[in-house]
Amino acid sequence: MKIALVGIGKIAIDQHVPAITNSDDWELAATVSRSGTVDCVPAYHDIDTMLAENPEIGVVSLCLPPVPRFAYAQAALRAGRHVMLEKPPGATLAEVHALQDLAQAQGLTLFTTWHSRMAQGVAQAKAFLAGKSVTKGHITWKEDVKRWHPGQDWVFAPGGMGVFDPGINALSILTEILPAPVHLQDATLEVPENCQTPIAARLAFTDQITADFDWRQEGPQSWDMWIETADHRIELQMGGSKIIIDGVDVTANASGTSLLGEYPALYARMAELVNSGASDVDLSPMIHVSDAMTLGKRVSVSAFHL
Ligand code: NAP
Repeated sequence: MKIALVGIGKIAIDQHVPAITNSDDWELAATVSRSGTVDCVPAYHDIDTMLAENPEIGVVSLCLPPVPRFAYAQAALRAGRHVMLEKPPGATLAEVHALQDLAQAQGLTLFTTWHSRMAQGVAQAKAFLAGKSVTKGHITWKEDVKRWHPGQDWVFAPGGMGVFDPGINALSILTEILPAPVHLQDATLEVPENCQTPIAARLAFTDQITADFDWRQEGPQSWDMWIETADHRIELQMGGSKIIIDGVDVTANASGTSLLGEYPALYARMAELVNSGASDVDLSPMIHVSDAMTLGKRVSVSAFHL
């Protein structure tokens, strides 16, 4: 299937282009970006022109930051194209619901991707926890924003979500593997005095689950969580790519799409959704972020510059 990639920046180049190029399902047939391009692929600056001139491109994958993404998604769906959204799927929950309604009315696929859910240990963690009662858990998601988002001022602008941009990856894993949903009860957000979004957050959910997100961690990066039940302890490390159950590393037991790698697995899933005429829209990770922004206590911290 022919696919167009929109927003040729860091994640498009690092992950989307190789995942599409190495897939038998997809052909990268056009890009849309104000300045970014991909070698040997027809490049457009404007999505309406790309859609009008390429009726054979049936799928559009959007890798822009969340705030500008809605207008592009709406244009693609209105033009009869299936749409795949980077995480977080939008700047607000309501705009994603609007896209979901539009996709349904048009009979098109909408896929709100959560790449971390495709990490190697996640499916095993979900299967292990199914039917069990969680008694406690903790997430530590600490990374260096300067290393992963160089010069990306949008992360600290309204709608950029700040530390929840990576933190939502942890929440996408949590919401996938827990056997029963939890909800937020308390949050503290550290907001640099020159920024609109938090640089750190501490969250407390029901079922004794807590989270600690920080974007100022230099040196080794931490993308880890552990969950306890009455009789077991499960640990996901390195963003979900390593799984330890009761002290034993069982990562090698992974099977199926977990072996593909996160972005190849997302594109395989998109092919499956388009071929079966289905959509996959899950806003549960983003609901926790919205709740944290609604409920959280703000603490002002020193100015921060990328
Ligand atoms: P980015 O490099 O800052 O942005 C991607 C591209 O979007 C830019 O190169 C730019 O291309 C276009 N763009 C930016 N602002 C725009 C605007 N206001 N209007 C129209 N186009 C605009 O960001 P990214 O790191 O790739 O992240 C994009 C999305 O992927 C985010 O939702 C992020 O959470 C997600 N993601 C990022 C990473 C990562 O490691 N960075 C990992 C996983 C997921 P032009 O200037 O050419 O238009």
